[in-house]
Amino acid sequence: MDDDDITVRVAIRIRPQTPREIIDMCQICTFVQPGEPQVTLGNDKTFSYNYVFDTDTSQESVYETCVAALVDSSLEGYNATVLAYGQTGSGKTYTMGSGFDVELLPEQVGIIPRAIHHLFDGIQNRINRAHESGEIPPEFKVTTQFMELYNEEVIDLFNPSSGKDTVYKIHEGGGGIQIKGITQKTVTSAEETLQCLRLGALSRTTASTQMNTQSSRSHAIFTLHVKQQRIVPLTNSDTNEFETLTSKFHFVDLAGSERLKRTGATGERAKEGISINCGLLALGNVISALGDKSKKATHIPYRDSKLTRLLQDSLGGNSQTVMIACVSPSDRDFMETLNTLKYANRAR
Ligand code: ADP
Ligand code: MG
Repeated sequence: MDDDDITVRVAIRIRPQTPREIIDMCQICTFVQPGEPQVTLGNDKTFSYNYVFDTDTSQESVYETCVAALVDSSLEGYNATVLAYGQTGSGKTYTMGSGFDVELLPEQVGIIPRAIHHLFDGIQNRINRAHESGEIPPEFKVTTQFMELYNEEVIDLFNPSSGKDTVYKIHEGGGGIQIKGITQKTVTSAEETLQCLRLGALSRTTASTQMNTQSSRSHAIFTLHVKQQRIVPLTNSDTNEFETLTSKFHFVDLAGSERLKRTGATGERAKEGISINCGLLALGNVISALGDKSKKATHIPYRDSKLTRLLQDSLGGNSQTVMIACVSPSDRDFMETLNTLKYANRAR
């Protein structure tokens, strides 16, 4: 299979040990052979992926290896999705770059801010190139939305005061999957977009405190919509025509995967457990079905959860998807790491 034909790629990222794990003298139980996209857990459990990033891999390297090309294709009208999967504390938010609770050094900046800069640089380059060659420059419109999925309900992070009473319906229209009534902000620069991301991330923290939960129980989905109008020469003719390209880029910081196995919880806790379970389970099934060539023609179970329904037009088809499964290197997380390695291996 040609590498370009793969629509779903899976990466494993092993974070460094935390200071706490070092103090507690946790042993490292993940091993990576340099140059091989494989992880061995413990003595003998070896799994293969499209990419494996060991503890010393930089944010820049993760971005360049698995996300940069997707941003380039989004400027050509292709949809894309980047998902961060893993147990709480494994590095999902650090990898995505959607946490703003601490000041970061430039080299610590994660995927979303890098993608935002890359996108606006790409737009500017296209406009400049057209000017230089005396062509009419393309026109771009970028909008963004930021939502949280909690208990199979959509929360608008750009309008958190709308609260729990607003029910956002997912529907399928001309522009693909849409969420009725959710705030769409038009943005004209990388700085402005980052400001939106920061605001949304902040209201995520506040909203989850009010609901007496942790953000680790919900999925956060930051989306960039790119609309481009450009003039292209009509084939076999001297005249030109307008072409409109649209694309969606979803960045998903998934709920902590450890809840997949939580049992014995009752009431609200149980409800949470079940619905998060359902999103991650459905996602695993969808990604696995997409990756399985022999099943291609048959059913892809998008409708089994809100999460997969929301991402439906950006998973599969002409879209590119990268799932980054984050794991801890320490022996005390052995079982959770094994679960994640298995989930990600199945998705591959
Ligand atoms: P999650 O979102 O999966 O719960 P976090 O992204 O919050 O996990 O990461 C947990 C802790 O580990 C944070 O303090 C974070 O800064 C740190 N961390 C995660 N990944 C890395 C990494 N690749 N390099 C350095 N520190 C990391
Ligand atoms: Mg997090």
